Amino acid sequence: MIKMAEKEKVILVVDDEPDILNLTKKFLDLGNYKTITCSNGKEAMKIIAEKYNVIDLILLDIMMPGRDGYSILEEIKTNEDYKDIIVVLFTVKSFNEDIQKGKRLGADFYITKPFSGKELLKKIDEILA
Ligand SMILES: [Mg+2]
Repeated sequence: MIKMAEKEKVILVVDDEPDILNLTKKFLDLGNYKTITCSNGKEAMKIIAEKYNVIDLILLDIMMPGRDGYSILEEIKTNEDYKDIIVVLFTVKSFNEDIQKGKRLGADFYITKPFSGKELLKKIDEILA
């Protein structure tokens, strides 16, 4: 299939685990996404404030030291400038309450941990298609 030239999609990945950041960046780069990574909520909000108009999707970890993913999600979805950015939460499979709470706060999709890079890329491709 020939792909038409289109605007490169920009994804912000927020996770406190370096292995997750490395894995997601590796696979999203293969998918021709422009990936920005950061490891905490404070830094994430700074990047969002600067680049909200170019960020298409945020992959957001819930459990992080300092500000957790819920608080970031809530801030994004209640801000007029940020609320249209697609937010995909990283959740641990067995934590069903994470999904319920994320849903209430406006999360658009979920990716459950543990995941493979291939699965992640497939899911992101579907969401951004
Ligand atoms: Mg974490």
